[in-house]
Amino acid sequence: MPTRRDFLASSTAALAAASIPPHPQPAVQRAASRRARPTVIASSNGLRGVTLAYDQIIAGADTLDAIIAGVNIQELDPDDQSVGLGGLPNKDGVVQLDASCMHGPTKRAGAVGCLEDIATPSLVAKAIMDYTDHIMLVGDDARRFAIEMGFTPQNLLTEKTRQDWLRWRARLNAGDAYLDYDGDVDIKFTTGTINMNAVNSAGDLSSVTTTSGMGWKVPGRVGDSPIIGAGQYCDNSVGAAGSTGRGEANIKVCGGFLTVEFMRQGLAPQAACLKTLERVVAMTESRLLDERGRPTFNLEFYAVHKDGRYGAAALYSGSEFAVCDARGPRIEKSAFLYET
Ligand code: ASP
Repeated sequence: MPTRRDFLASSTAALAAASIPPHPQPAVQRAASRRARPTVIASSNGLRGVTLAYDQIIAGADTLDAIIAGVNIQELDPDDQSVGLGGLPNKDGVVQLDASCMHGPTKRAGAVGCLEDIATPSLVAKAIMDYTDHIMLVGDDARRFAIEMGFTPQNLLTEKTRQDWLRWRARLNAGDAYLDYDGDVDIKFTTGTINMNAVNSAGDLSSVTTTSGMGWKVPGRVGDSPIIGAGQYCDNSVGAAGSTGRGEANIKVCGGFLTVEFMRQGLAPQAACLKTLERVVAMTESRLLDERGRPTFNLEFYAVHKDGRYGAAALYSGSEFAVCDARGPRIEKSAFLYET
């Protein structure tokens, strides 16, 4: 079992941020099971990720290593403005990232909140899980921990994202100190995240969620993604689930956990996601409900059962998700509570 000292010695300053650190593997306790259909499910931006993760799982990789490799694709893609490098910044133009993960067979979890300068918070969450007695680190101290572990700090604000931030700021308040920008900026695009969950043929599960959170957020804001039981949750005896969309609404219902609990009670993954969304509506404050009592935001859940069944559901129609199993990678339509 490698120690932290071994890890530091083996990592060079050039350790690629996307490389997965070697980690201690506690004993896995489970009853033998060979009946699951290997399946990887993710938010719709995870099509490349589910393909990679599925291939790795079939080749024998650990489910958490595989799905983290899957989400690393989006974290390192400067064109995905919802996560990692190029993610939308907070209101001061600083990119602050959140992530969490769970490893079903060893019953472990890791999380990081408000992390700056490290493109792959999913790997930092996993390093916290692997190398500390804690579950979550936040802010500057999380950044310092990551650098100690060999992650390389970099500027995450791409030129495109910086320009979007400048345009957003220029349209913020009529009469403020910035002259109005009258070109196009899609200021509605303020959320986005990648959640990925997987099961292998032994029925072992893992889950991970990583995000830059709500664009233009108040500095220091932490969403649902790094909250174990909200942004993602995994119980190796039942299934795994996670979320994208308005994190504040998810945190209040512990949506990842609740979806897994609904599967434990016997609901299929899609039905479990829908039932969690009903709870979200019931817990929505009136200022966020329209005249018909519908939420003014969207939220989506993704779930996989230990046996390989999967499903996803959103508050509103039009959402999709990515999935890969023996039938190959594809995008499917999510179930929903309301027509848009
Ligand atoms: N759930 C993320 C958050 O609230 C954002 C998103 O998924 O769009 O931070």
